[in-house]
Amino acid sequence: MRTKLVAGNWKMNGGLASNQALLAAMIPALAGLTAAKFAVCAPYPYLAQVRQVLRGSNIACGAQDLCQFESGAYTGGVSAAMLLEFDCRYVIVGHSERRSVFGESDELVALKFAAAVKHRLTPILCVGETLAERESGVTETVVARQLDAVIGCCGSTALAQGVIAYEPVWAIGTGKTATPQEAQAVHATIRARIRAAADRRLADGQTILYGGSVKAANAGQLFAMPDVDGGLIGGASLVADEFIAICRAAQVARETVKA
Ligand code: PEP
Repeated sequence: MRTKLVAGNWKMNGGLASNQALLAAMIPALAGLTAAKFAVCAPYPYLAQVRQVLRGSNIACGAQDLCQFESGAYTGGVSAAMLLEFDCRYVIVGHSERRSVFGESDELVALKFAAAVKHRLTPILCVGETLAERESGVTETVVARQLDAVIGCCGSTALAQGVIAYEPVWAIGTGKTATPQEAQAVHATIRARIRAAADRRLADGQTILYGGSVKAANAGQLFAMPDVDGGLIGGASLVADEFIAICRAAQVARETVKA
């Protein structure tokens, strides 16, 4: 049975004082939740702080991006090895904001995924369609193209070493959430594609998160879907009570499956 994962994506938000307050509220609240996994993906300058504050807790540290190269003359780049020195376990790759604002291609995202896996960091690979693509009926084609770029570059076994986050672009930061049924339908397609590219065992074990305006109010229904293995949470991960409630929903969803 797959363990639910809830990862916060702080994006370009935070500050030393507000990070401290947020983590101080989260740590005791999540301490007893042993049936799910939790992480926060912080901006680079705060990784040292987050790593130190989270030490000994059940919340893992993650980053929001990495450079595809190992080291050298890549001004502004941050390598997988550097992230490991700050105890990062996860790194987001291919977030829609990286794709649309910073022009990252499927091929570049695949190289970043490969760099993470090579260093045993768990990449959280974001895939998802724009509103125009959904309305044109090409959601599955877009998501398949994004997945295939990684499979083509790294192989299907490497894909299984990462986490996939289905994040419809029209739902990110907009307050519009995919319905649990809409999310489930795409998640099932993603799992089927991995089954076809790899095998049933890898596909069944693959963690597939949903992201896009997840809140305390809708997390329970989304996480109850059979192929939704947790969430990648943006805005709500900056609000302690909201994020804690979302994490509790992941724990409850897991307990419900076990019962
Ligand atoms: C995200 O940034 O990955 C995200 C899902 O954002 P939000 O939850 O704010 O829609």
